[in-house]
Amino acid sequence: MQLDNQVALVTGATRGIGAAIATVLAEAGATVVGTATSESGAQRISDALSSTTGGGRGAVLDVRDAEQIKQLIDNIRDNEGAPSILVNNAGITRDGLAMRMSDEDWDAVIDTNLNAVFRVTRAVLRGMIKARHGRIINIGSVVGLMGNAGQINYSTAKAGLLGMTRSLAREVAPRGITVNAIAPGFIETDMTGELDDQQREALLEQTPMQRLGQPGDIAAAVCFLASPAAGYITGETLNVNGGLLM
Ligand code: NAD
Repeated sequence: MQLDNQVALVTGATRGIGAAIATVLAEAGATVVGTATSESGAQRISDALSSTTGGGRGAVLDVRDAEQIKQLIDNIRDNEGAPSILVNNAGITRDGLAMRMSDEDWDAVIDTNLNAVFRVTRAVLRGMIKARHGRIINIGSVVGLMGNAGQINYSTAKAGLLGMTRSLAREVAPRGITVNAIAPGFIETDMTGELDDQQREALLEQTPMQRLGQPGDIAAAVCFLASPAAGYITGETLNVNGGLLM
């Protein structure tokens, strides 16, 4: 899965799934710009990428900030070249039962996990259309497919992301751009780190492979979808979940 001469933008690359994606893409030869919400996070990404084949750097981006998106995409175009791979990975949870969920928690999750993905994608699309080549990979969730009690905001955003993936895939297919989603199951990161033993056991019981996924499991699937091997795949949602939805 060679990604030489590709420029990849990975949002939310300081830790967890995003950090693994940035490293795997850079190991495959892409020049990667990984985003962080702080200067220290961006520095950590630069350090992690410095020893990879394709290399790259960290850059500060709050995906909810339209002006920062524009500035970063212009900056990447001037330095590395327009991104040919976009991985929309940044995401948050603000869990709560529907009856008790505040507007603030609803809005924060929809804004970060859905609205921001649209804005980043729109900003990157111009360069891909010009190049008549691009790979857009959205990190969804199994929860966007099957729902989850206590995550009405998160599951709504992730389900919306799958709709966005299919609509955009149809729109840009004639331009040589593929748009796909990955729906991870339960992956061992900070996001799942807050689960207590009982919740963890319940997840394992639902997962035929009887283990939580690792960030590298998702990164490998992203690398495949970004590679020439996946050139005829678009509008798909790839489940990477240890058999959870069989
Ligand atoms: P994580 O909390 O470890 O990492 C989330 C990343 O998003 C961090 O780098 C964080 O800085 C970034 N981020 C958050 N808000 C941001 C903002 N406003 N602007 C820019 N960056 C922001 O989580 P993770 O588990 O690595 O999750 C990565 C993606 O995978 C998310 O989209 C998540 O919904 C999805 N996912 C995770 C799991 C899981 O089990 N861990 C399962 C399914 C889907």
